[in-house]
Amino acid sequence: MADPHRLVIIGSGPAGWTAAIYAARADLAPVVFSGVPKQNPAPVLPGGQLMLTTEVENYPGFPEGVTGPEMMQKFQKQAERFGSVVQPLDVERCDLSSRPFTLQLSDGTSARAQAVIVATGATANWLGLDNELRLATSGGGVSACAVCDGALPHFRDKHLAVVGGGDTAMEEATYLTKFASKVTVIHRRDELRASKVMQERFLSQPNAEVMWNKTVTDVLGDAEITGVELRDTVTGETSTMDVGGLFMAIGHTPATAFLEGSGVELDDAQYVRLDTRSSRTNIPGVFAAGDVADHDYRQAVTAAGMGCQAALDAERWLAEQPEAQTA
Ligand code: NAP
Repeated sequence: MADPHRLVIIGSGPAGWTAAIYAARADLAPVVFSGVPKQNPAPVLPGGQLMLTTEVENYPGFPEGVTGPEMMQKFQKQAERFGSVVQPLDVERCDLSSRPFTLQLSDGTSARAQAVIVATGATANWLGLDNELRLATSGGGVSACAVCDGALPHFRDKHLAVVGGGDTAMEEATYLTKFASKVTVIHRRDELRASKVMQERFLSQPNAEVMWNKTVTDVLGDAEITGVELRDTVTGETSTMDVGGLFMAIGHTPATAFLEGSGVELDDAQYVRLDTRSSRTNIPGVFAAGDVADHDYRQAVTAAGMGCQAALDAERWLAEQPEAQTA
């Protein structure tokens, strides 16, 4: 492999693989650092959040649905078919102060690149309860994405619960009211953080309710969720509630820790800040795509679209850099 590489892509979800497909077809010989598995506290796998998604029914082109892992395998195969080189390593630190950029890798080596696309995604926050994580990874009715999973037969006509009090909780809970017999938002305080308009949209549904001052202390059920154990945050009393599905909506954490000190601008929530309508970051030659730079949509199809944009932006930018032509 040439070093410096013309283009390095960090991350192997829909954004990373789509960027690799486009970049490889443009003869940029991209190197994809696809990551190593870790536990945080739910498993974080190369391939991203889709690796924890059982059935994907809303990605165009898969009318019968497809499992998240199978879809990521197909993306990778397509990227490799056009010559992307895949390295199963994490990028742990970046020196982006001069070009070529230097990336420190998890095997102790380093790589240099003329241009970089950051596509490391974001991970949903979980409470960290053993049964929550077990049922989330086994398709047992616990999920961190209602838009991804809520329409599956498993959740239809059941009493569902959503944990959280922000806009995501309201949006996901409102979405679920279409399928569920009842949706209960479980919030740890007596006031929602969500905007008024989102609150009203949820609360105006006939099958919507909020359970105030409660936290989930355990998830009940063996192969499938049957209920939750709750603790009242004011009185300390414990209780249980029967539910057929549980959706976590307590925020996401973008995978940007490795950019600390690199100079790449992040927003207050630690997501990469992009130029309007482009994948450019504040550092020329560094681009970002997918959930790492998007806390609004967070869908496989939007991440893939952003990956395409990043590859096209990188290709155009590289074409204007004389020193990057021979790498
Ligand atoms: P968020 O605003 O940070 O809200 C997270 C919610 O989870 C809060 O209500 C928080 O409770 C609760 N929470 C956090 N940790 C918890 C824990 N360990 N146990 C129980 N509850 C916990 O996150 P978000 O709702 O994902 O929104 C992220 C950003 O995206 C926001 O800026 C939001 O406006 C935006 N967004 C916009 C839209 C839209 O406009 N369509 C849709 C979705 C998201 P507390 O309130 O007590 O802290």
